[in-house]
Amino acid sequence: MLRTKDILDEKNPLLRQKSKEVVFPLTPEDKKNIQQMQEYLTNSQIEELAQKYDLRPGTGMAAVQTGVLKRYIVVVIEVDEGQFDHYIVINPKITSTSAEKIYIEAGEGCLSVNRETCGIVPRYARVTVEGFDMDGNKIKIRAREDLAVILQHEIDHLNGILFTDYIDPKNPYKYQDLYRAI
Ligand code: ZN
Repeated sequence: MLRTKDILDEKNPLLRQKSKEVVFPLTPEDKKNIQQMQEYLTNSQIEELAQKYDLRPGTGMAAVQTGVLKRYIVVVIEVDEGQFDHYIVINPKITSTSAEKIYIEAGEGCLSVNRETCGIVPRYARVTVEGFDMDGNKIKIRAREDLAVILQHEIDHLNGILFTDYIDPKNPYKYQDLYRAI
């Protein structure tokens, strides 16, 4: 079982590397890793399990955060009390974006960034992400608002980018008026 301490911290140089394309079929190790990432994200959003296992809550994770430099991401979003939507995308690519940009008003978070951060992280309000499921079938996700932000955040990880890179520490709310807060 994946625990919070197993997730790489932002100081780890692996997080700055570009992850490699996955070649199908997935290895048993990758399948297990995906299943563990999904389990962590789900359990971390269920209060009693999060407390029991001391899990920092998260909605998305990229393989590199577990130390695996491969291009796959997992997103788990609670859509209703105790009901979760799961997204597993292998070799994800953003194939179209909206003109409009948004930002999370409360600030983005990351399981690899264990400090208080504030500031604007501009993201496309809507994106289309294409990639593959675990069996190698092509998938396409049309995402907006929170899901769009999370997908952009996780795909950035595969390219060695952290959300904090977008924030100017001297002026964290720069150009705020250009974007819509969500
Ligand atoms: Zn992150």
